[in-house]
Amino acid sequence: MKRTFCTFLLITTAAVINAQMKPEETEDWSRKPAIVTPGKMNQPPSDAIVLYGGAKDIVNWVSDKGSPAKWIADSALTVAPKTGSIKTVRSFGDCQLHIEWRTPAVVSGTSQGRGNSGIFLMGLYELQVLDSYNNETYYNGQAGSIYKQYIPLVNASLGPGQWQRYDVIFTAPRFNTEGEVLEPAIFTVFQNGVLIQNHVLLKGPTEYIGIPVYKAHEEKLPLMLQEHGNPVSYRNIWIREL
Ligand code: MG
Repeated sequence: MKRTFCTFLLITTAAVINAQMKPEETEDWSRKPAIVTPGKMNQPPSDAIVLYGGAKDIVNWVSDKGSPAKWIADSALTVAPKTGSIKTVRSFGDCQLHIEWRTPAVVSGTSQGRGNSGIFLMGLYELQVLDSYNNETYYNGQAGSIYKQYIPLVNASLGPGQWQRYDVIFTAPRFNTEGEVLEPAIFTVFQNGVLIQNHVLLKGPTEYIGIPVYKAHEEKLPLMLQEHGNPVSYRNIWIREL
């Protein structure tokens, strides 16, 4: 009853104030949005950092151990099995990421063994890459899953050998000075233009075994691409820091 009266009072007060206001009073001129030129058909927008544009060199990448990256660099960047994962030289936190990927046209293996790779934001939080076209596996491990945490909303996978794309909005987790997590990592993901993860809050870093637990880390960390033994390719990788 009390709350209903308060709400009524609030609405009435607002109505009285609003009746005296001008349209200009609710205009916000505090931040002029920067002009960004959108990329034409598959090209990055003007303010993106291009991490791999098909330049045949892996200048922006090193192996996850820090030594030179040994993946095959051509018009695309392809996993060289048994050479380890690779990571960016630069570090990133909150970002928008565009990345195109292709699982091998010649299908071999099943479940997690077919076209497996992964995109680890901050080297810790995996967006799964897998050939999930007619390839059953645990649902929180298929393409577009936040590995072992979130099943994708739908399976928007194209067939093996076809280029697919992820557009990712990622918010890095925030920690306090005691190292406790204040805000979790957040993913929104489109696969081939289809929403597959809608603002999901991560339980912690990706774990293959066991329950994820946050450990405080830097505000920015390198992006990592996983080597999982399958020759998965990547191209047109660009990122916008937010
Ligand atoms: Mg993987």
